[in-house]
Amino acid sequence: MTVAEEFEAANVKYAANFDKGHLPLPPGKQVAVVICMDARVDPAGILGLTEGEAHVIRNAGGRATDALRSVIISQRLLGTRELVIVHHTDCGMLTFNDGQLRDIVKKETGHNVDHFAFLPFSDLEQSVKDDVEYFKKNELVLDVPISGYIYDVKTGKLNKVV
Ligand SMILES: [Zn+2]
Repeated sequence: MTVAEEFEAANVKYAANFDKGHLPLPPGKQVAVVICMDARVDPAGILGLTEGEAHVIRNAGGRATDALRSVIISQRLLGTRELVIVHHTDCGMLTFNDGQLRDIVKKETGHNVDHFAFLPFSDLEQSVKDDVEYFKKNELVLDVPISGYIYDVKTGKLNKVV
């Protein structure tokens, strides 16, 4: 059985008790969260969110530049007026640098990806500050409140950085 088939079976149970079909498209809390894709990170649980309340934009590291396209859509078309960035302890983005991953991809595929930024970081707190600054300075992003946090995967606690 593939994982996809497991998902299909789980969805039958989910849909049987589904009662959220009435929710409107724009997020009720008018907020977009940019957060890492790490499997241990559960945005709904960490932030107390339920369906219909927030945009949750996930990518490797919860990086701002990678999320920009979605943030513009979120703000311009779906009315979000606050941004929250969440990076986390023990993130995979702390374990490599661009050169290393470029080498791996080149070796395994033959393609040169030297132009490709994988956006790893070596300082977790600084990465949150950098991403908050990126959104604050980006003229495509609305002037809205922006907060940055580090989520601790060992304790479940969210710690404010900026
Ligand atoms: Zn991560």
